[in-house]
Amino acid sequence: MKNFFKDKIYQSYLSVFSLLLIVSICLIAFYQCDKQLIEKHALRHFFNTVITFLFSIPLVSSFRKLRSEHLYLKNKSKKIESLDLLTSAYNRKEGLKILEDLSKSMKQSERSASICFIDILNLTYINNKSGLQAGDNIVKITVNILKDSFRNSDKVVRLEGNKFMVILPDCSLAAKNTLIKKLENKLSLFNKLNKKNYFIELNILYVEYKGEEKESFVNNSINRLALNKKNTSINDSVMQEEILVGINNNEFKTFFQPKIFSKDKKVQFEALVRWIHPEKGMIPPSFFIPVSETSFLIHRITELVLKDSLEAAKKLNTCISVNISPLFFEKESFVRDIKNILVDSESRNLIILEITERSAMTHSLSTLEKMNKLINLGVKFSIDDFGTGYSSLSYLEKFPISELKIDRSFITNVEKSSINSLIISFSVKVGELSGFEVIAEGVETKEEIEKLISLGCHNFQGYYFDKAQPLEVILKDYSKDKYLKKLDFINTEKSD
Ligand code: C2E
Ligand code: CA
Ligand code: CA
Repeated sequence: MKNFFKDKIYQSYLSVFSLLLIVSICLIAFYQCDKQLIEKHALRHFFNTVITFLFSIPLVSSFRKLRSEHLYLKNKSKKIESLDLLTSAYNRKEGLKILEDLSKSMKQSERSASICFIDILNLTYINNKSGLQAGDNIVKITVNILKDSFRNSDKVVRLEGNKFMVILPDCSLAAKNTLIKKLENKLSLFNKLNKKNYFIELNILYVEYKGEEKESFVNNSINRLALNKKNTSINDSVMQEEILVGINNNEFKTFFQPKIFSKDKKVQFEALVRWIHPEKGMIPPSFFIPVSETSFLIHRITELVLKDSLEAAKKLNTCISVNISPLFFEKESFVRDIKNILVDSESRNLIILEITERSAMTHSLSTLEKMNKLINLGVKFSIDDFGTGYSSLSYLEKFPISELKIDRSFITNVEKSSINSLIISFSVKVGELSGFEVIAEGVETKEEIEKLISLGCHNFQGYYFDKAQPLEVILKDYSKDKYLKKLDFINTEKSD
């Protein structure tokens, strides 16, 4: 209404209308005074004109309204034509148009642009398994994650079903790295927090755009994206989803195997995860850890094992070792992820993180930084499977470790192998000098224990003492002596 009165045309209508109104009032007054003087039909004509004019106002107004609505709808349909109907991202046609405009402006300024190509790796699997609606949902969530991760000036384009392109017109290398990190963080946050039985796995490729022909540039980049694909087979995707369902259904349980420190009369435990599948029964970690390691699932598994271990540490009042996958350790978010799980727990200073030689050796500087940050929180570190990787004892003193675990392959039949004996006694000596414990893994026989003791190794873990058991089973008749007594044969045999 306000606009209506502001409009110049209506203002002039209003002035004419007021003028006519005044004239008609005067005429009526005049007519009342002297009827004979006025020609009857002339007056009728005058009133007809006034009425027609009055009626024409709403007509003109509706006409103007119709015209503006038409313009609005025209703009809207033009916009809709450029968007993907499912996600409201730009469609392929518009994406190519944006590239073309970019190419023109780049030719003038001799700049280049970054284009990010993205592919949802597990979309076909989700479509086949859960139906197209579930697949559509994943596509919509992906676009939201992309829009959230990139800047407002960047254009998110859906090229086809599971393939996207994000056009970053002005992007320095540093900004590009920040954006890709942001995208990875948002994606892993979604996967970590999403408690539903699906996850999103993306394949991401950055390509520099220098103004090439748009169609062939996009097609070539899509081919490169396919080559960039991680080796996630359909079997891995099936397994990953089964693992996720298993985690959500509480099918994963943490078992604990004792570690015996004979000289100090200490017993600690190592947490070993088990998948109790409702149909397939107990599935060992060697079956599902490698598949989990290549995705966010390892975070979920480590989280549940750590939580169970904190509880076990409190109930058994002893240290619990937790295995850390090398691929998880290498992640930038590793310290933050572990901190988030441990920070509120009082028993966090009873947690030992077992990392492999490979984890420690690659990127040794950041390894040291990561270890120190968690050590400040009260956590200890152990080197697992020693002897299977670099086996360099000299690097060990670089790292703030509390324990070294000699791999089972050196322990089995140790009494018959002089090389293995040498490695064990040498490791024990380095441990004594550097101040960390050395423990033998996979100890199964009395003979192995006797030989290990003769080599100076007094710490053992293996089936000789017990296999890994659920916490409830251990707590039933728990006492340190139950395990330490198994070493009584040493003194008995000596005194015989
Ligand atoms: P690992 O850390 O070297 O764990 C020791 C493995 O040796 C365990 O197998 C344990 O059951 C087995 N073992 C213990 N004593 C003996 C013995 O006397 N003889 C023989 N033959 N084997 C023995 P498990 O539980 O199947 O675990 C295999 C591997 O899976 C582990 O090797 C570890 O690398 C990984 N793993 C287990 N739980 C977790 C976990 O929670 N997180 C991660 N990231 N990895 C885990
Ligand atoms: Ca281990
Ligand atoms: Ca080991």
